[in-house]
Amino acid sequence: MKIELHEIPVREVTNGYIDSADNGVVGYGGKLNIRPAFQREFIYKDKQRNEVINTVIKGFPLNVMYWVKSDNGSYELLDGQQRTISIAQYVNGDFSVNHLGFDNLTDTEREQILNYKLMIYICEGTDKEKLDWFKIINIAGEQLTPQELRNAIYTSEWLTEAKKYFSKNGCPAHAIASDYLKGTAIRQDYLETAIRWISARDGIEIEDYMAKHQHDPNCNELWLYFQNVINWVKVIFPKYRKEMKGLDWGVYYNKYSQTNYDPKTLESKIVELMQDDDVTKKSGIYEYLLDGAEKHLNLRTFTQSMARSAYERQKGICPICSQHFEITEMQADHITPWSKGGKTTPENCQMLCADCNRRKSNI
Ligand SMILES: [Zn+2]
Repeated sequence: MKIELHEIPVREVTNGYIDSADNGVVGYGGKLNIRPAFQREFIYKDKQRNEVINTVIKGFPLNVMYWVKSDNGSYELLDGQQRTISIAQYVNGDFSVNHLGFDNLTDTEREQILNYKLMIYICEGTDKEKLDWFKIINIAGEQLTPQELRNAIYTSEWLTEAKKYFSKNGCPAHAIASDYLKGTAIRQDYLETAIRWISARDGIEIEDYMAKHQHDPNCNELWLYFQNVINWVKVIFPKYRKEMKGLDWGVYYNKYSQTNYDPKTLESKIVELMQDDDVTKKSGIYEYLLDGAEKHLNLRTFTQSMARSAYERQKGICPICSQHFEITEMQADHITPWSKGGKTTPENCQMLCADCNRRKSNI
């Protein structure tokens, strides 16, 4: 990993500045990609933009910027996009500051701006090294999401393809799955989720999956897998409920798609569980129906007053071992377990000593 500080005059950075719909935003004689795929659109307000220009005119320092050098010798701008574009647009004559455009300045003033040196860290290294470094410097700069950072590293044809499916407003993933996914396509939440699921299937991390497939000619595998996940959900849980949004469907798919569930049976259980006051986490119903673990449901527990009533009723005697205990030594227990239809009600509450309670739950 190599990081070097360079002082590059505005003249060179803005040389060959182009902002076009087809070719993106380019500078530094065509060698600098000012708005790489992972960067946000230019969102500076006029005031911030003008402050950058005033700073340059006065010769005051701007914060350092970060570029990443690619294998082919070109650069991608990692941090400093908005400042760079402000300066380039000003030099390009796109706007005025203090009622003066670049062309209205004297030769000396123009030269002073063109000779102003930008402090730029240029980084070269392996993908993994760059990603680690991005994560660190991103703390201070504009917040990129973890997936935006990964996209910055694993730039490729494969990623471009994947973004067509997962990363645009109205993209195919949005069309089939927005009801099931949290976040938004443009902040890379959909892409991240899809890769996280398929990585979980393969038992690897998101970065590993991206590194492994970076040079694939297309992302068919990811897109077909993702569609399988969503189709599976729609087949086994055909009635949509808002609690289904944001669940880890791909992880469930990886584990349970080989099991044959009956959608009608599942639906009648969902109807029942949705109405069960003891189920405090309704979104957990789906995973519960797949693996049977009650922990997904956050079942209601007995209140202090229910426990106290049961303790007084029992006169402090544990009904299993018949010994007397202080209330602090006892635990509230469902006489009829929830799984057998027992509810979290005063009538179904008994106090057991810790030992007996442990033995009962282990049965
Ligand atoms: Zn006992």
